[in-house]
Amino acid sequence: MTAARLLPDGVPERERRENVHPDGWRNPVPVGCYNLAVIGAGTAGLVAAHAAATLGAKVALIERHLLGGDCLNVGCVPSKSIIRTSRLYADMHRATQYGARIPSDIRVDFAAVMQRMRGIRARISRADSVRRLTEANVDVFFGEACFTGTEALTVDGTTLRFKKAMIATGSRPDTPSIPGLVEAGYLTNENVFDLTELPRRLLVIGGGPLGCELAQAFSRFGSKTIIAQNWPLFLPREERDAAQILSDAFARDGIEVRLNTRAVNVRSDGGQKLVDLVIEDHKSTVVVDAILTGTGRVPNVDGLNLEAAGVDYDQTDGIRVDDFLRTSNSRIYAAGDACLEHKFTHTADASARIVVRNALFLGRERLSALTIPWCTYTDPEIAHVGLYVKQAHAKGISVKTFTIPMHEVDRAITDSEEAGFVKIHVKEGSDRILGATIVARHAGEMINEVTLAMEAGVGLRTLARVIHAYPTGSDAIKKAADAYSRTRLTPLLSEIMHRWFRWRRRDD
Ligand SMILES: Cc1cc2nc3c(=O)[nH]c(=O)nc-3n(C[C@H](O)[C@H](O)[C@H](O)COP(=O)(O)OP(=O)(O)OC[C@H]3O[C@@H](n4cnc5c(N)ncnc54)[C@H](O)[C@@H]3O)c2cc1C
Repeated sequence: MTAARLLPDGVPERERRENVHPDGWRNPVPVGCYNLAVIGAGTAGLVAAHAAATLGAKVALIERHLLGGDCLNVGCVPSKSIIRTSRLYADMHRATQYGARIPSDIRVDFAAVMQRMRGIRARISRADSVRRLTEANVDVFFGEACFTGTEALTVDGTTLRFKKAMIATGSRPDTPSIPGLVEAGYLTNENVFDLTELPRRLLVIGGGPLGCELAQAFSRFGSKTIIAQNWPLFLPREERDAAQILSDAFARDGIEVRLNTRAVNVRSDGGQKLVDLVIEDHKSTVVVDAILTGTGRVPNVDGLNLEAAGVDYDQTDGIRVDDFLRTSNSRIYAAGDACLEHKFTHTADASARIVVRNALFLGRERLSALTIPWCTYTDPEIAHVGLYVKQAHAKGISVKTFTIPMHEVDRAITDSEEAGFVKIHVKEGSDRILGATIVARHAGEMINEVTLAMEAGVGLRTLARVIHAYPTGSDAIKKAADAYSRTRLTPLLSEIMHRWFRWRRRDD
């Protein structure tokens, strides 16, 4: 069971508990047969259960721990809340650059930061609450779900029968196999948001989105932070120049960056932890107060008795699904982190909607038809949608790229937030957008415009005609589209234009 905890004290935690796992909850008596049984009440499970029940289906939703799953309790919501505060601290440190005078000894009230986060989490938990589900006529069961056959499962000894089921059991943090780590104790996303005191010295192992976001946030709060990544760059999936900008930003924040570095051993000494790091053949030891791991996610497939249900799965990739999100048992579908490569809240949501249509309404919606953006919420943010250049080349597609550095964008200049770029890839010889990477302070907001264009089949020619409010960061997208438009002015067209204007200037 996940370690995501409800802290015993405090008004926000009491409110969250009341919403996502009320004390003394009694499971309902099951109906004869459910149209849809949903296992796991994270984003995917909640979306599917609520949508199906609203459309009139009889739905059972089974959750072993907390409604809202990772996103609400130990993922997006708490991380983005504390990241916002960490940005504020970073901005305060740059205040003189903006002509503001503030005391030089700004101090972080970490307990207050976490209390703010808990208040936000409690407020957002209302949307995921048991009351909202029961009002929609969903039967909510708390307990561990386990299949007993191809058409039935049990929760705490009660059998539920179903016509269709959806597995949305999510994922959990991968534990790196480093000798001594477990004995010394370490943080993951499941307990880092329970901290009440800021670790003075922090080692973050893993330079993926989670490691990068939290390393920067804790460093900005004042933890002396080291980030160790066993690759030559952070965010290995992203384009190199994007990842390089992040490395530079980390250096500016005072984070000690250790690339190509593996943590090989951990030991405790009093309250502190000694971690051996190896880069190539060189070994060094760092002394820290806490270790946070962000080395990947593993799908939750254990304990479900998937064999009895005839559902194929893999410990690494999770539940095996086809493009319609159907498992090897045609009655059972899967959605979210339990089966998807792209483990995001918005993909959990989108995949759950596909399941509702395909499982309950004979739909034929395909996962592969989705245009999926994503964003890492560092400062600057790194957002992407569609194909990377290397992926396009691997498919034999020639690419033309239009890049606008943020330092050429007026709004970035007025805000003194010039790090980054907008890079849009089109199919050579056309204006069809294949993909885009945006590195900018609000890249996560900006990527949505490109996603909309891709989804609607709108090319750069049309984007060049869209009036963008001035001055905004999204102006960079318009500038990239204008750069495309200029390529349409071929030498022949240019010559014709010159002749035309010469002719217009003639004396009558
Ligand atoms: C620190 C962090 C930050 C993140 N930030 C972002 C972000 O900014 N944007 C974004 O898009 N994504 C983000 N994510 C990813 C996002 O949280 C997940 O992709 C999303 O929560 C997946 O939803 P899900 O419904 O598939 O699974 P989950 O949210 O994991 O829910 C699965 C649920 O199933 C339950 N369960 C499991 N097994 C059983 C069982 N046998 N019986 C009953 N119940 C069971 C679990 O208790 C859990 O509640 C972040 C993740 C982390 C860890």
